[in-house]
Amino acid sequence: MIKIKDIIFRWVLFVIFTLSAVVITQIIIVKKAAAILSSVPIVSLPTYSHHDLLNDVNLRVKYLAARVRDTNFFVYTVRPKDNLWKLAKKQGYSVHTLIGVNPQLKTYEINVNQKILIPSSGGCLHPIQDNDTWQKIAQRYDIDVDELQLKNFGVSKLVQGEYIFIPGKYPSIDLMNKSMQEKYEQRSLFQSPLSGRYSSVFGKRLHPVTGKVSFHGGIDIAVPSGTWVGAADDGVVIVASTNVSHYGTAVFIDHKNGYITHYGHLSKLYVRVGQKVRKGQLIAKSGATGRVTGPHLHFTIKKGDKALDPMKFIW
Ligand SMILES: [Zn+2]
Repeated sequence: MIKIKDIIFRWVLFVIFTLSAVVITQIIIVKKAAAILSSVPIVSLPTYSHHDLLNDVNLRVKYLAARVRDTNFFVYTVRPKDNLWKLAKKQGYSVHTLIGVNPQLKTYEINVNQKILIPSSGGCLHPIQDNDTWQKIAQRYDIDVDELQLKNFGVSKLVQGEYIFIPGKYPSIDLMNKSMQEKYEQRSLFQSPLSGRYSSVFGKRLHPVTGKVSFHGGIDIAVPSGTWVGAADDGVVIVASTNVSHYGTAVFIDHKNGYITHYGHLSKLYVRVGQKVRKGQLIAKSGATGRVTGPHLHFTIKKGDKALDPMKFIW
């Protein structure tokens, strides 16, 4: 009996010692790990000044690369014959994206060797405002707040003057620089009556029919006869006739804000004088009437008596 008790006692002692040893070892390991971890600095991204982020494209790319998920940004050096429209088209998004990620631009014209930022997918940068919250920004761009935060996974704090990326959205006009704001608003006034290749631009040119230098008061968009033409903005039809001098069959619309638009060389009219039309409403079909060498739409924008360059008004 005594022997059995002794054996049990020794076993109990053995188990207690073993368990204590394991527990003590684990405590030591955890403490050591904690010590090692605390010696590693907490990773925090540096903050940048608004001025530097705005003016240094390379810095902006570096800043965004550490914060934005699934969209890559790179610096592009402008080459001869580049323009924002062409570059955007190549990337598969609209020109609004290139304007939206390049808040340093003050005009739409880009120059050879100028450096601009190009993202791999569409969207815009939002310059963080003084009292911005994620909710507020999400509301401004009509985007889901979770999607916005997920996209900007590296932004732990909204710092005024820094940027977050808004996927798939157009830039906010009131946050642009004054010069861009005016140009952007001007382009938002009208929409292009149809899409096609610009066969002749605004200004002095050698007239294709007379062969003489003359002033072209609008743009020509080359399209096959019978292509639908839309009103560039809301307004009232003031001319809708088959015999409008060199325009041939044409429509004029008064937009009641000082602007009048002309649509020439049409083949068929779908509106009459006095009719109210809405922006984008189909008003006619294109053709080759009047003084032309081939089918196209002639489009003019006038303010008062002065013809303006439509390329500065449509996207
Ligand atoms: Zn023309």
